[in-house]
Amino acid sequence: MVPLGPPGTMRGMSDQENPTDVPADGPDLAGRADLMEKVVGLCKRRGLIFQSADIYGGFRSTYDYGPLGVNLLRNVKNAWWEAMVQRRDDVVGLDAAILSPPAVWAASGHLANFSDPLVDCRSCHQRWREDKIDGVCPSCGSTEFTEARAFNLMFKTHAGPVEDEGAVAYLRPETAQGMFTNFANVLQTTRKKPPFGIAQVGKSFRNEITPQNFVFRTREFEQMEMEFFVPPDDAQTWFEYWLAERHRWYLDLGIPEDQIRLRHHEASELAHYSAGTADVEFLFPWGWDELEGIANRGSFDLHAHAEASGERLEYFDQAAGERYTPHVIEPAAGATRTMMAFLLSAYHEDEVGGEARTVLRLHPKLAPYQVGVLPLSKKETLEPLARQVLASLQPHFMCDYDTTQSIGKRYRRQDEVGTPWCVTIDFDSLEDGAVTVRDRDTTEQSRIPIDDLVADLRRRMDAV
Ligand code: ATP
Repeated sequence: MVPLGPPGTMRGMSDQENPTDVPADGPDLAGRADLMEKVVGLCKRRGLIFQSADIYGGFRSTYDYGPLGVNLLRNVKNAWWEAMVQRRDDVVGLDAAILSPPAVWAASGHLANFSDPLVDCRSCHQRWREDKIDGVCPSCGSTEFTEARAFNLMFKTHAGPVEDEGAVAYLRPETAQGMFTNFANVLQTTRKKPPFGIAQVGKSFRNEITPQNFVFRTREFEQMEMEFFVPPDDAQTWFEYWLAERHRWYLDLGIPEDQIRLRHHEASELAHYSAGTADVEFLFPWGWDELEGIANRGSFDLHAHAEASGERLEYFDQAAGERYTPHVIEPAAGATRTMMAFLLSAYHEDEVGGEARTVLRLHPKLAPYQVGVLPLSKKETLEPLARQVLASLQPHFMCDYDTTQSIGKRYRRQDEVGTPWCVTIDFDSLEDGAVTVRDRDTTEQSRIPIDDLVADLRRRMDAV
């Protein structure tokens, strides 16, 4: 999001506590202090998220999404795209370049203002983001710091073989500007008219001073952003509409009501051009923190780019015979951060048949695998039928095929990564042409004819 606060103030000077502190009170926090450790452990153990460049000792604050993590992250982004683009006729998609020229960031205000307050500890010389440390050096405990100075968070590079000023380029720190710079292109090519939106999912880069809390705050991350262009008089109505829509999206995908909330910004937190901003917050183990910001940005962005580029970024309303600059409502979410919230809220430990198990109660749409296909025995007699069942499911669902160890252990392994249904092929299957479908949450098992399997699983999926 473009610089918070009035011009000249620094980004992110908000009301957040030090994110490593777990507040003593607050809803449902009891027993969650170790949740982070458990989820991070599970992510590493099961191939959801790896430390980047692990074999070289790791590269701080960058992560690689492993075989299961890439499925989960993709499902989060697909669920967003489905809700924001596929199921609507008033929003279109975009995939803009990550590399961009300084002119874009000069106009947007990022070159001047996209900064955090940086201080050096006078004792151990470590650098910190001032608003995150409560006046005490997390490394040595000193309370003596240098004056805060604005540290710009954009990654600067050079495009082409000459490293001079004329070749400077930036890695985008947000996806949003691509929607503003393409406003006229999209308007002309799609014949959309306000109210309409442009949506984008993709990587963004911020040279965060203190990346922390696993994938919550990293230097390279993914965002899911939409700019919704509206007639100025309708902006407040659409702002409220998007607040409700975005809040509901998280609930629909299984985040419990007491772990998600909307928090309206105080007037002092608002950007000078903003007529209103609210965050969707999730109850992380360290307290409430932001998943998404939804802002009523007025005409700030289109005006800024129109002025800097000399292009007309307006809409001509033929019926009314008037030309105007649309106002913008922006729901801006983090895909990687949201994936982490889904993992935290899905993580459960319970008992099945007197045995402890870990289960990710992920929404089936999000789960890395929807179906685990498990032949009861490795014997060659079951293999051809099991592979046939697998092949019949693969066009419809992301499947895992697992033949190792006992069936009980295989169920536990699927539970631990959130696979909602396991399909077991046993020796009776050869006779009756049916398989056993086991439900992750209830552990109930039912016998289903192989011919009905796809329809049965689809019904279960639609019923969630
Ligand atoms: P914060 O205050 O946490 O730094 P922000 O208010 O600057 O975030 P926005 O610019 O509004 O964030 O970006 C929209 C969303 O992008 C955030 O709500 C968050 O989900 C995600 N996001 C922003 N920065 C990061 C980051 N460094 N790592 C992971 N996700 C991020």
